[in-house]
Amino acid sequence: MSAERVTVKEKVLSANDQLAAETRARLQAEGVFAVNLISSPGSGKTTLLECTVDLMKPSLRLGVMAGDVQTRNDADRLIRHGIPVEAIETGGGCHLDARQVSRALTTFDLSNTDLLFIENVGNLVCPAGFDLGESVKVVLMSVTEGDDKPVKYPAAFKRAAALVLTKTDLVPHLQFSLERVLEYARSVNPDLAFFSTSSYTGDGLAEWTGWLAGQVAALKRS
Ligand code: MG
Ligand code: ZN
Repeated sequence: MSAERVTVKEKVLSANDQLAAETRARLQAEGVFAVNLISSPGSGKTTLLECTVDLMKPSLRLGVMAGDVQTRNDADRLIRHGIPVEAIETGGGCHLDARQVSRALTTFDLSNTDLLFIENVGNLVCPAGFDLGESVKVVLMSVTEGDDKPVKYPAAFKRAAALVLTKTDLVPHLQFSLERVLEYARSVNPDLAFFSTSSYTGDGLAEWTGWLAGQVAALKRS
């Protein structure tokens, strides 16, 4: 890469980071815990969110930003669960950036929000490199993806606070080692929290939502 290109990339990133820092300060001031959900397309982000919202809605005030390259389909699914939802259509962009999130944030009543989910565009590569001002990144992967994903796409796993394994009800039909994925994931990030879930059977959802509730409570105490 030429020196000139490096400079342009650095400028784009620093403008993004500046805006992300402003968003983070705003969320912190309002006591909102924000989760940036990152995964490949089709790993089950929206379905996990639908289940998560149903389980947590009775006790916490929730909101969702649903990012997609095209369509509002995911936002429309989530809106049926009776919480504030804003769609972000990137129009070809393969990740969300801080500007899009900062703009979408104005549609939420932050003083009446405890937990905000940001469903990133399905892509395990560049979403890992763009700070959105979130409290934590959470990486999802489904058991159909192959257990070496953490070492193939280490940046996403390194920067995440938690890994949520999805579709575990399919494990009996697959050559998939839960032990191996955990071993790979922890080799990249020893501090990664780990949840093994199935939105279909409900397995592991209590542990996942319990962890989220704990994060929200810790933020309120700080
Ligand atoms: Mg989705
Ligand atoms: Zn991208």
